[in-house]
Amino acid sequence: MLRLQLMRMVDFLDTCRQGAKLREEINKRGMYLMEGSEMFSMRDLRETKSGQLQRFLSGQVRRLAEHIKFKCVTCSARGFVCEICSDDKPIYAFEILKASACQGCKAFFHRECIKQATECPRCRRLRKRHAESKKLISNANSTSGQMF
Ligand SMILES: [Zn+2]
Ligand SMILES: [Zn+2]
Ligand SMILES: [Zn+2]
Repeated sequence: MLRLQLMRMVDFLDTCRQGAKLREEINKRGMYLMEGSEMFSMRDLRETKSGQLQRFLSGQVRRLAEHIKFKCVTCSARGFVCEICSDDKPIYAFEILKASACQGCKAFFHRECIKQATECPRCRRLRKRHAESKKLISNANSTSGQMF
């Protein structure tokens, strides 16, 4: 779970100028920790037993979360505002306990909000716009048909 969070955070860091620096500490411990593989080294096994690995990972998650949410303009701009409840506090892809992505548009909403909503508002809007543009095109076609 911590590794999954870390993985999603790395997504942010890829587009952030300070990203490389932030990743350094994790890279030193092992790049694979951010790559979502199920790989475990002997050291991981040992440190999982002692709780050291969890401590390291949760420390990194906390550090990166702080950067993404509060310290960095580039990263914090990549949060989503939940369109269902319009809460102005953004949610982030790595907040896996809180956020859930719509399968259709890949936008993030509160897990609770999307559970209660019958339809994703963003998908509904996109579909409406799509239908309207289709109508527009067919209107344009019929007027040009009249002209000739
Ligand atoms: Zn950043
Ligand atoms: Zn919400
Ligand atoms: Zn959607």
